[in-house]
Amino acid sequence: MSKTEVDYLEELIAFKTVTGDRNESKKCAQYCANFFKSLGLRTQIVEYSGYPNVVATTQDTKKPKILLQAHMDVVPAKDELFKLDKTNDKLSGRGAFDMKFACASYFRVLERLSKPANKYDFGIMLSFDEEIGGTNGVKALLDDGYSCKICILPDSGKDWHIETSAKGAWFVELVKKGKNAHASEPHTGINSAEILNSALNELLELRQKYDTSDLTLTLTKFTSGEAMNQVPDHAEAILDIRYRNKETLSKIEAQLSEVAEKHGLHTDTKMLGACMDVDRRDKSVCEFVDIAQRVLGREIEEGHSSGSTDGRYFCDKGIPCIVLQPNGEGRHSDNEWVDRKGVEDLTEMILQYIEKYAIID
Ligand SMILES: [Zn+2]
Repeated sequence: MSKTEVDYLEELIAFKTVTGDRNESKKCAQYCANFFKSLGLRTQIVEYSGYPNVVATTQDTKKPKILLQAHMDVVPAKDELFKLDKTNDKLSGRGAFDMKFACASYFRVLERLSKPANKYDFGIMLSFDEEIGGTNGVKALLDDGYSCKICILPDSGKDWHIETSAKGAWFVELVKKGKNAHASEPHTGINSAEILNSALNELLELRQKYDTSDLTLTLTKFTSGEAMNQVPDHAEAILDIRYRNKETLSKIEAQLSEVAEKHGLHTDTKMLGACMDVDRRDKSVCEFVDIAQRVLGREIEEGHSSGSTDGRYFCDKGIPCIVLQPNGEGRHSDNEWVDRKGVEDLTEMILQYIEKYAIID
């Protein structure tokens, strides 16, 4: 008798793939790679800065039509959480919900295909660094030329809500250089703190032009000066800006540089994280949602997230990404669980989708 999703999840959870544990990550990567190879997929382990990634495709290509993605790294946990608790319909353990269930489901999809693997055009991509930002995982792979027409990434979304957007983050530093002087003779210096302060007030006023669902802009740091009686010759501030889509980012960038220029500020991007913005009407997305709704026997709703997944890297490359997942709770907590039936439903959705849209005629 072949194994079930639960059996595979149990095996996967036993690997203590805490992000950064390269040894355990490589063991797990090898285990998954062996599985894919045994089913006839072209399989590679690609490493970036010591982080393994597994890429398996049914065709000899870096760009399969459909890509099933999952991250296999997890956050730290007590030893006992690396043993799956399957006593009821809540499958509990570290990584059960975030997100090894997806890999277990992909294993079952491969086993249940009606034709040999080479009759399809799809791939599986597993990464091991999502919890620390994905730079040596999905981002590196996509920059390296791996791609697809559509990606399925079940790493977020409450009870099958499909996530169509997640904000990106831009941390920008503003620096004003001035000229020291005795504070009793302010006209002989250039007060960088006062100038930066005016500039910041103008920037904070820009918030009124945006809905908070499109943009938030928050002053998080402001430092200046050395002595109480000295006109400060330097002042620095950091703004934490979260934006809904690329258009919003371009708009705020332009507004910010206008204010910076006016006040003679220097700007420096400390971090720029892409947003996720999926067109819910995209043909491939609709095709998947149709199948998913049939499997569940109900409508799938749309959701927005303030957190982020590696889906943003796909969207940044213009690749639609389907982010939805079964019912579950407690990611990163001791009570992490995923619904057993939900995982089986995911297998069913992906299988039907592949049988319909990934067949090579
Ligand atoms: Zn995750």
